[in-house]
Amino acid sequence: MNEEISGKKVSSVEVSNPKCLNVSLESFRQNIIGKAVTSIESLGKWLFFKLDSGGTVLFNPGMGADVIHFKESSKLPAKYQVKFSFDDGTGFTIRVWWFCYLHFVPRNKLGEHKRVGKLGISPLEKSFTLDYFKRLLGKKKGNIKSFMLDQKNIAGIGNVYIQDMLFNAKVHPKRKIPTLTEEEVCTLHQSMKSVLTKSVELGGLEYEKDFYGHKGGYGAAHFKIGYKPGKPCPRCNTLIEKIKTGSTSSFICPKCQTLKTLQ
Ligand SMILES: [Zn+2]
Repeated sequence: MNEEISGKKVSSVEVSNPKCLNVSLESFRQNIIGKAVTSIESLGKWLFFKLDSGGTVLFNPGMGADVIHFKESSKLPAKYQVKFSFDDGTGFTIRVWWFCYLHFVPRNKLGEHKRVGKLGISPLEKSFTLDYFKRLLGKKKGNIKSFMLDQKNIAGIGNVYIQDMLFNAKVHPKRKIPTLTEEEVCTLHQSMKSVLTKSVELGGLEYEKDFYGHKGGYGAAHFKIGYKPGKPCPRCNTLIEKIKTGSTSSFICPKCQTLKTLQ
């Protein structure tokens, strides 16, 4: 996106689902049209389109979205809710799978944004060291899975990739943080980085698309236990189970990931 969009001036914006905006469509347009995109950054599930006015357009695809680049001559996707066009005839469309957030935030107000202002750092950042993770866990008492999914603690882990992260460390999703051993914390930390890095290398999940519409390569072959109920555990052959953990589903090997009691 940085290669295709940076430096280009926004010439028009269409939004057919204005509920995703944090301001009126008119105000959204006024703040963006005529401004140039200086860079695109990401943190967790958020994209940050930085504008030369100092403003930022924030986009969060919710459960997912197809964000697809187009050139003047390209055929546009059949369905989309958002379209950004630039003054050189290129642009991109967004087809949201379910819901999204598309917010305009003025200069220096990012820190006050209800969600973005409180985001943790991504496990892919260099600064996300083992020591940092240990400090983050600190004296927390809750379940490890809820902790890891909370974007205020760690930005960028969702219910898809967390399954194998927990499995790699042989940690049950309902384990209480104070019961985790040094080795488990260490493996979880490594695993967060390795699982996400692999996914980025492969361009995301098989049902996700990149900016040019190419599908990702991370699929069933890459999951160890995630989304494989009834299949044998790759470590011990016990059948993988699907269980409810709060509002999310979890896939576990009941033998490798036992619930240890508080020591
Ligand atoms: Zn197992």
